[in-house]
This record gives sequence, structure tokens and C-alpha cells, in this order.
Amino acid sequence: MSEKVVILGSGPAGLTAAVYTARARLEPLVVEGLVPGGQLMTTLDIENFPGFPDGVGGAALMDAMKKQAERFGARFKGGRAVSTNFGRHPFLVVLEDGTAIETETVIIATGASARYLGLESEQKLIGKGVSACAVCDGAFYRDVPVAVVGGGDTACEEALFLTRFASRVYMIHRRDQLRASNIMAERVKSNEKIEIIWDSVPDEVLDVAQGKVVGVRLKNVKTGETRVLPVEGLFIAIGHHPNTEAFRGQIELDERGYIIAKNTRTSVEGVFAAGDVQDPVYRQAVTAAGSGCMAAIEAEHYLEALHKG
Ligand code: NDP
Repeated sequence: MSEKVVILGSGPAGLTAAVYTARARLEPLVVEGLVPGGQLMTTLDIENFPGFPDGVGGAALMDAMKKQAERFGARFKGGRAVSTNFGRHPFLVVLEDGTAIETETVIIATGASARYLGLESEQKLIGKGVSACAVCDGAFYRDVPVAVVGGGDTACEEALFLTRFASRVYMIHRRDQLRASNIMAERVKSNEKIEIIWDSVPDEVLDVAQGKVVGVRLKNVKTGETRVLPVEGLFIAIGHHPNTEAFRGQIELDERGYIIAKNTRTSVEGVFAAGDVQDPVYRQAVTAAGSGCMAAIEAEHYLEALHKG
């Protein structure tokens, strides 16, 4: 038997879509994805989600959203979609373990993953001084030095944002020229709190056994020289990639792989997208949740029209 609504992903977009479609008695099935709860699961404290004056833990917020969806009858399934067929109806979603699910609508909320450098020490310290989101974590670094890795617009934006809190912001870039747009590059270069370290890449993130970042060892890619930069926060801003591999060839994606959606409607009627998977700009929990709500309402309208006609 075919499902009415399958939601792919269980971050704020997926879970908000689940709350709304469950309340609309559409009995959504949520396929939780590789990281149940999504990117917020690695954020210790969220201070900018409205309604929590004292902040809320990322995992606690996602747990609460899940319980809220379950209360209205949403069902959850572990695993992740590896392929889809939107050329037929009901649509087909195939999971990693081979399970094939037929469904009348799909809400894609598979999110985006920050790209990391891939250093072992970096992976160990994610959430303990290593972050990929200055807006989320910047305020924890008041009056201490921090570094941003990358030379694109995101790195510039993060560095500029961090100047509000940090005593000094280093930008570590692997070349001698920024990739960022001129306007962003100029803002960074003219900010007295920011120092750009050219031709360099982090070699190791240092924690002196306390599980907390105390510095980063840099390698100059031209001379091979290394040196230690004492910082308490390291922000990786070398790009994000949307999790859209399972939808390639099925719906329209932009040149960077993000789903092209208008008010959450994708190029295939009945397939909706919410959250970071269709948003390279805002990437906030609250905007993801908002678009999850929109996708749920759109799916409800689509199903009404489908069953009327
Ligand atoms: P980009 O791909 O533009 O930049 C990534 C940066 O990270 C580059 O400088 C790149 O170096 C560096 N980098 C990549 N991999 C590594 C690595 N392994 N080690 C060290 N450095 C690395 O990504 P962004 O997220 O900055 O931007 C994505 C898109 O979003 C862009 O089109 C950007 O213009 C847009 N954007 C616009 C904003 C705005 O207008 N306000 C704000 C944020 C993003 P290299 O330069 O050598 O390749």
C-alpha cells in the first residue's frame, strides 16, 4: 500500500513537516537519514531559536520536535534514501537496506553537510572548539582569538561576524588571493580585527589533552614551514554540499546541487523540498523549520487536489 507522505530527513525542516502533516492526519513516514536530528545534533547550545530565552541544546530541541510529531501519529524509520523514481506515480523511494517505499508525496529535507578538512584532530574536536557555523557558535568566543579556514564568501562572512565577539580573527587561506567577491574581500581586508594568513592550511588542531581547542598548527603550502597559532575556536568555512545524490536526474538541481524550489515546490508536482537542501543562503534552524511547515501545507493541498480529481 502506498504512503501518503514520506519525509526524507529529520532535522528541523523534516520534523516540522512531520508535525504539520501528522496533525493533518496524513500519517507521515519520516525516513530519518544518516544523522537522525541533522546538523543541530552537533550544536551544544542554540541561543537563537525563538522561544528559548536561556538557549536549548541541539539534541534536546530535536528530541522535543520528534516527540511532538510522534504525538500526532508520525512514524519514524531509520536509514537513508539512496535512490528515487519521480517519473512514476506513486513515487518510489529506495532506502540503503533495499526497502522500496511507494508514496503519493515526498518532502525532501535531507539538508546539507558542512565540508570539513578531514584531519583526525579536527573531527575529534567538532563541537569542542571546531565549528562550521559562526552564527551558531560565535558568541561562545568572547574576547579570545579564533581562526576561520577558507577564502570564499562564507569564510569572509564568518570572519566578519566573529569580529563582534573574538579578540582577534585569523583567516587561514590556502592561496595568496581570496575567492570571495570583491566587496566581501574588501570588508575583510579593511577590518582591523582580522588578519589573513596566506598560503596556509591547518595541519593539526591542538587540544593538549583537555578536549578543548588551544591552537592550530599551520603549514605554509609554498615553503612547507609550520607554526602554531594560538586560538580557542576554529571555524571551517570551505563550503557545504547539499545532500541530493539520491535525487539526481529526478528533479531540477542548480549547478551546486541544491534543489530548485519555489515555495517548496520542486520541478516535479507532488515532490516538495524544505530546509538547507534547497537553501544555500540562510541555513538557519528556524528558517528550515519554517520551510518544513510550508512544504507540509503544500503537500496537503496537493493531496486534496489529487483525491478530488
Ligand atoms: P566557496 O566554494 O566559494 O569557497 C570555499 C573556500 O574554501 C575557497 O576559498 C577554497 O579555496 C577553500 N577550500 C576548499 N577546500 C579547501 C580545503 N580542503 N582546504 C583549505 N581550503 C579549502 O564556498 P563558500 O561557502 O564560501 O561559498 C559558496 C557559494 O555561496 C559561493 O558562490 C558564494 O559566493 C556564495 N555565498 C555568498 C554570500 C554572499 O554573497 N553574502 C555568502 C556566502 C556564500 P580556493 O579559493 O583555493 O579554492
